[in-house]
Amino acid sequence: MAARLQGLGTTIFAEMSALALRTSSINLGQGFPDTDGPTRMLDAAVDAIRSGEHNQYPPGIGIAALRESVSAHQRRFYDLEYDPDTEVLVTAGATEAIAAALLALVEPGDEVVALEPYYDSYAAGIAMAGGRRVPVTLRAPDFRLDVDALRAAVTSRTKLLLINSPHNPTGTVLTADELAAVAELAVERDLLVVTDEVYEHLSYDGAPHIPLATYPGMRERTVTISSAGKTFAVTGWKIGWVCATPPLVAAVRTAKQFLTYVSGGPFQPAVAEALAFGDDYYTDLRSSLQGKRDLLSAGLSSLGLDVFVPGGTYFVTTDVRPLGYDDGVEFCRMLPERCGVVAIPHEVFYDDKQAGRPLVRWAFCKRDEVLSEAVERLRSGL
Ligand code: PMP
Ligand code: GLN
Repeated sequence: MAARLQGLGTTIFAEMSALALRTSSINLGQGFPDTDGPTRMLDAAVDAIRSGEHNQYPPGIGIAALRESVSAHQRRFYDLEYDPDTEVLVTAGATEAIAAALLALVEPGDEVVALEPYYDSYAAGIAMAGGRRVPVTLRAPDFRLDVDALRAAVTSRTKLLLINSPHNPTGTVLTADELAAVAELAVERDLLVVTDEVYEHLSYDGAPHIPLATYPGMRERTVTISSAGKTFAVTGWKIGWVCATPPLVAAVRTAKQFLTYVSGGPFQPAVAEALAFGDDYYTDLRSSLQGKRDLLSAGLSSLGLDVFVPGGTYFVTTDVRPLGYDDGVEFCRMLPERCGVVAIPHEVFYDDKQAGRPLVRWAFCKRDEVLSEAVERLRSGL
């Protein structure tokens, strides 16, 4: 295996989902819903397959209907204008968009400043591009962005900032002030920004999602990435997209066309339809997930764990030390056998292993009865 892939191992999500299957555990590890996405959207995909018009290669940049729908979505929710023909690119999920953006924009040896704990594909994408990862740690108990640490992480070798809000795994939703500080720094140091906004519709307690591209001087330097997986509960469809200026989209497309070329033909028209759903869809999604967040947070708290209630995403984080454990990896290895529940240790998402050691992430995008059953299993086994 090439040196640049050394140490990447197997993604924790595959490992923990396999463990859940092997032990018949409730899987609160990998973040995927256990109910289907909206029927109208599923029907649209079936219709697209049956029509016979979407089963061959779609255009390399994605079908026009989806690019137009992404563009309309950015205008409707954020007042951002993107030309569907030159400023939107459809990708194989956000994962491909992230990898293609890093391959397209990072020269070997360039530094990429990323928030830590980081979603695991960031480390892999930076490594595949030959870049150097420079983490800025979001620390317990509040996981806020330390703007001074971010400033200190930027050097003359920094090429881009890789930002994620709402943030996986901590659930932090960056505030308007934090985002403004990121934007100011990017403008001041003339940096590109890749922003992963896949949880854009999953922020709670009325907190708005504010795209980084809305800040002064940011639209022209920002590659905004999102996908349908979370918003429409279809993580297996892998329909993602990029919004950026024509030269940035062209760069990402150059890498993308030699990774997958295209993907998800019949899913593209279905997602195009779904993005145009009325406000009720988006409001219901938020309130349903906020209820699940509260249900699982209360359950975990009742077990004596320290719970950090997240502002967004599918995930709640706990500190396991109150239960007498100091290592989240050990805790998560023990959990399936002992309780029949799978969770994800934070430590794998850090360079600063110490910062993540006692932390464990639990997914709450599951049916209420499944969340309650998981808590009862934990209560009996721990
Ligand atoms: N970014 C983050 C922060 C994620 O949590 C995920 C996982 N769902 C992705 C990107 C990948 O998204 P997709 O499934 O669309 O590739
Ligand atoms: N984003 C999901 C999570 O964080 C899983 C994605 C994956 O399995 N690669 O759990």
